Amino acid sequence: LALVAGQVASALGNARAFEAERRRAESLAELDRAKTAFFSDVSHELRTPLTLLLGPISDVLAAEGLPPGARDQLTLARRNGQRLQRLVNDLMDFASIEAGQASAVRVATDLPAFTAELAGVLRAGAERAGLSLTVDCPPLPHPAAVDPRMWEKVVLNLLSNAVKYTFVGGIEVQLRGTDDAVELTVSDTGIGIPVEELPLVFDRFHRVAGSLARNREGTGIGLALVRELVALHGGTVGVTSEPGRGSTFSVTVPYGTPDAAGDAEHPAAP
Ligand code: ADP
Repeated sequence: LALVAGQVASALGNARAFEAERRRAESLAELDRAKTAFFSDVSHELRTPLTLLLGPISDVLAAEGLPPGARDQLTLARRNGQRLQRLVNDLMDFASIEAGQASAVRVATDLPAFTAELAGVLRAGAERAGLSLTVDCPPLPHPAAVDPRMWEKVVLNLLSNAVKYTFVGGIEVQLRGTDDAVELTVSDTGIGIPVEELPLVFDRFHRVAGSLARNREGTGIGLALVRELVALHGGTVGVTSEPGRGSTFSVTVPYGTPDAAGDAEHPAAP
């Protein structure tokens, strides 16, 4: 009898533990939904005032005869406003991905030309920082189809990080096609990432500790967004790094086929 009673008690205990675990998972999911809705609402509310703030700043900056001190101050204000605008846009992208409302609309894309074009956007910034930028994007063995807006975010996020976290040397962007996938790699000779941080850098809001990394402006959201956008293409992300020597970020996506909604060839220029 004692044995049976023991078994009943343990079964009851298991059932209770199971129920508690189920409730915990449910409330976590609920919290996640609330967080996403909150991000989305706040981002939405910030968008219009930010646009109305940046418009006049740009107009004043375009005017002649501004005292040099005022021009510098306004330029600083605009740069920070634009930074906030990027964060707001990233948060809104995130919210719609989390709400399951985002999907990649694949368009037949000349990926080597498009990727090289995007790298060109950051060339001036890299060179101003005294860094070289090498772009190696030969033709692919198969046609590729990606969501161009998403691909643009992926490439620009990885490249701007490479520029941001590199002080000497340079950056290399490579695109390669295997039998069944396209691989993009962005390598830099920058500050690198400690091995224990490697599994964390794609997590939302994660920034590596240490003065070198923290000296740079950032939000810790760029790589998390990259991972989500790549996942929407059925792809994967990866990183290898050596502190003090540099990092290589890689993105692998299947070639994909154009979706019915977006079957026009995407031009190389965005
Ligand atoms: P952030 O806005 O902080 O740059 P990200 O999500 O893009 O956010 O990157 C997360 C963190 O990963 C960064 O704060 C930085 O510590 C590290 N990191 C990202 N890219 C690089 C890189 N190319 N070299 C060194 N560290 C990097």
